[in-house]
Amino acid sequence: MAATTRAPVLAGNWKMYKTMAETVVYLNEFKILTQYAEGCEIVIAPPFPALAAAAEAVQGSKIRIAAQNLHWEKEGAFTGEVSAPMLRAAGCSDVIIGHSERRQYFGETDETVNRRVRAALEGGLRPIVCVGETLAEREAGQTTDVLLRQIDRALASLTPESASPIIVAYEPVWAIGTGRTATPEIAEEAHQTLRDRVRKNLGAETAEHLRILYGGSVKPANIQGLMACPNIDGGLVGGASLEPALMAAIIHYQS
Ligand code: PEP
Repeated sequence: MAATTRAPVLAGNWKMYKTMAETVVYLNEFKILTQYAEGCEIVIAPPFPALAAAAEAVQGSKIRIAAQNLHWEKEGAFTGEVSAPMLRAAGCSDVIIGHSERRQYFGETDETVNRRVRAALEGGLRPIVCVGETLAEREAGQTTDVLLRQIDRALASLTPESASPIIVAYEPVWAIGTGRTATPEIAEEAHQTLRDRVRKNLGAETAEHLRILYGGSVKPANIQGLMACPNIDGGLVGGASLEPALMAAIIHYQS
């Protein structure tokens, strides 16, 4: 396992928090707090209306800006939707796809996740593809089946080349916004399952290079234990990413 070749990714998902003005204030502080962060990639995902201002605010820093969703068509009569070319033009480089809140509240399916992943790749955006089981699925012993189904369908019809920019985020639904983090052992087992499946489907090289982030109540106090696991390559952080000092502390987990 060539874990050392995978640069860690620390990504903040702001969900439906922060106006454009609040975004700029946050990023101006966050840029200073993270200016000496070495050896990792930093991604922040503000809401749509703040994306262009965010992209401008992080210019000259290593921080990348992600959207939280996209539509698979480039344009058309799809009221309320936003496409890959629009996100690129706003300055985004990454996009979160298939977050459990989209699956739970907005009818996202494995099929639509796959369409969005392919549209993101075609549009030059790096997908951050979320998978994860609910509490009921875990308690019913279905975690592995759910993860395999979600990863197979999310990456369906991709080749090793086309899939190479993808980042996967394992986010157990029972750990999101609950303060109940998966133990490093539980998370590592799920990450290993996902990496093994990508190895089977897309080959060893894709699997070795794939960054798999853990998401679910990540905080400064638990990031180090998670990052010590060989198959955990970073974090997708919700609540704690809303506070620049907390997100910066997560990024500096080694110090
Ligand atoms: C998330 O929204 O992706 C998430 C992991 O949230 P939280 O860190 O608040 O659990």
